[in-house]
Amino acid sequence: MGLTHSSTGRGAVDSQLVIRRESPADRVIALAGNPNVGKSTLFNALTGMNQHTGNWPGKTVTNAQGRCEKEGRGFLLVDLPGTYSLMAHSAEEEVARNFLCFGAPDAVAVVCDATCLERNLNLVLQTLELCPRVVVCVNLMDEARRKGIHIDLKLLSSRLGVPVVGTVARKKRTLSAFLSALEQVSQGEAPSPLQVSYPHRIQQAVEALLPLFPSHWSGRLNPRWLALKLLEGDPALLRDISAYLGEDPTKDKALAAALLEQRETLERWGFGGERFQDLLVSSLVSTAEKLCQGVVTAPGSGYSAADRRLDRILTSRRTGYPIMIALLAAVFWLTIVGANYPSQLLSAALFWLQDRLTGLFSLLHAPDWLHGALVLGVYRVLAWVVSVMLPPMAIFFPLFTLLEDSGYLPRIAYNLDRPFRKCGACGKQALTTCMGFGCNAAGVVGCRIIDSPRERLLAILTNNLVPCNGRFPTLIAVLTMFFAGTAGSSLGSSLLSAALLTGAILLGIGLTFAATKLLSTTVLKGVPSSFTLELPPYRRPQLGKTILRSIFDRTLFVLGRAAAVAAPAGLLIWLMANLTVGETTLLAHCAALLDPFARLMGLDGVILLAFILGFPANEIVIPIILMAYLSQGSLLELGSLAEMKAVFLQNGWTWVTAVNVALFSLLHWPCSTTLLTIHKETGSWKWTALAFALPTALGMGACILLTALARLFGA
Ligand code: GDP
Repeated sequence: MGLTHSSTGRGAVDSQLVIRRESPADRVIALAGNPNVGKSTLFNALTGMNQHTGNWPGKTVTNAQGRCEKEGRGFLLVDLPGTYSLMAHSAEEEVARNFLCFGAPDAVAVVCDATCLERNLNLVLQTLELCPRVVVCVNLMDEARRKGIHIDLKLLSSRLGVPVVGTVARKKRTLSAFLSALEQVSQGEAPSPLQVSYPHRIQQAVEALLPLFPSHWSGRLNPRWLALKLLEGDPALLRDISAYLGEDPTKDKALAAALLEQRETLERWGFGGERFQDLLVSSLVSTAEKLCQGVVTAPGSGYSAADRRLDRILTSRRTGYPIMIALLAAVFWLTIVGANYPSQLLSAALFWLQDRLTGLFSLLHAPDWLHGALVLGVYRVLAWVVSVMLPPMAIFFPLFTLLEDSGYLPRIAYNLDRPFRKCGACGKQALTTCMGFGCNAAGVVGCRIIDSPRERLLAILTNNLVPCNGRFPTLIAVLTMFFAGTAGSSLGSSLLSAALLTGAILLGIGLTFAATKLLSTTVLKGVPSSFTLELPPYRRPQLGKTILRSIFDRTLFVLGRAAAVAAPAGLLIWLMANLTVGETTLLAHCAALLDPFARLMGLDGVILLAFILGFPANEIVIPIILMAYLSQGSLLELGSLAEMKAVFLQNGWTWVTAVNVALFSLLHWPCSTTLLTIHKETGSWKWTALAFALPTALGMGACILLTALARLFGA
């Protein structure tokens, strides 16, 4: 693949415009659309890729590219972030607008939600002003049908002057007409679509500017759109336009004079400043309304009575929170219970294999150190990571994805909006916090959905306070071993584990609020901005697909990453445990060095060292602790948590140690991937350092305090 397209002389927006075309004959198609209209589903269905889908607005925040073919014709689809308008108020809107303006796609497909077409037409009309080669893809036709909404696609197409096709993105066979329309529209003469009519004074101002544009601009930017933007005068956009054209339009004397005159005239008529943009928006809205008359026939409002009833339960103040906590606990309980048995099976199988490997090594007369490094080092840690992490992840991720896909996640954001606002932040932070449960690095990237830079920083800096999947296994293992194992029945024990884990998560969420409040009253002062959170309709998730996707996209991905780090870490630890300086091993030296401080935190040198070595991936903390203990003492096979607990007890763990390990696992520095992501997103080492220091200080403080209290009361 080679770089074949990017406009010249472009600055900041360049990276968003890079297109990787496999063949020069490929047509570049931009996929635009409001959030949550099924754009990623359509993109995945056509390209066979796995862009993340989920029933909530704002999960796609960057451009993704993928290729598909129809009858030998190649299409390169560029999936733009979901956006309601191209008037660029947020980072995602800007990414989408810049691609449409300056990325020179061969055609644009605007994906719309058939259940609320009128609102979606706003984006269609704005796109038509930029590029006439547009296909309107009315998606979610099945949902519209279910709600009794009928759409006359032919009539809409004749009114808009561009092809309009209906699709159900979840059903691949409905997409063929869409590709044919793209093929048709991206070649030959460009259609001449409907033009939005603006108030007479604005039209006049536009007409006055058009003759002054040099002819070579018109092939690059739509003159009418350019005239409107010049009149509007957004400095950032004008800078981008100048960079794109290679010349500053406002530097042309005649044009600058005309522009000044037209702006003054508009001002005199009361059409200047913010009012100008308001007028443009209301023209768009009324055009969309007219377009839909006779095209859409709906029995009532798109928002169904059942949805409303469900919302009343899930978002009311009395029931919303208990349901949220109960669902969280249920997900954890299912994860813990469900993971138990497969975990044991896997562990038995993998350690059986270890014995066979040992047999093989001795059969081959391999030296002891080789057996030690490869089998007792690399293989053992890998086996642990796989047997302990795989089953809970294979259960947790699909459950979480089901909640996400059904549309429950935005309800959580809605419920948490008030507390976040009270802390000086914005409710969308609830969504990014939820994403942090999967992976903190993903959560940090997700913060792009927050418009205000101050609130985005708050969300980024506090994202690590909820545990990612890499830390869940540690939490589950430690809490189950030390606090739930004694509850008698296995049902009681698993319920207690789930409750403890829920408690730990709630602690993380509570600390997220506290840290957000702290930051927003100190280094990040400001007033929370207002935003509208759209509650999408509930949708029945696709069970099979969700399970498959979350296993392949998330579970195996995370496991692969953990294994990739665990294997060399296993080797490193084994080496450290076996290489000696003087009489003592390297590991013992390092652990001894850390020991005094670690003891202050109620841990020991080995545990703290494990957290430090776990910097590349949190998943390997417990395996490292085990390796370190085992290579110093007896070599046990760890078939169960009970055996693991025995090792820990032998090494002096008490319940205080266990609580501290859980606490520190919840609260310590972000992993290396997350930190790099934070640096990339904030562009500042200062904020990255704060993101490192904040949870670490909190964790160390909490552990030291707890240990001191425990010692005081003689525990
Ligand atoms: P995006 O935000 O526009 O990328 O939307 P997604 O592709 O993530 O889709 C949002 C939700 O709508 C997901 O739960 C999809 O499974 C679902 N979805 C997408 N297209 C269709 C469709 O045509 N019919 C139905 N019933 N659901 C769809």
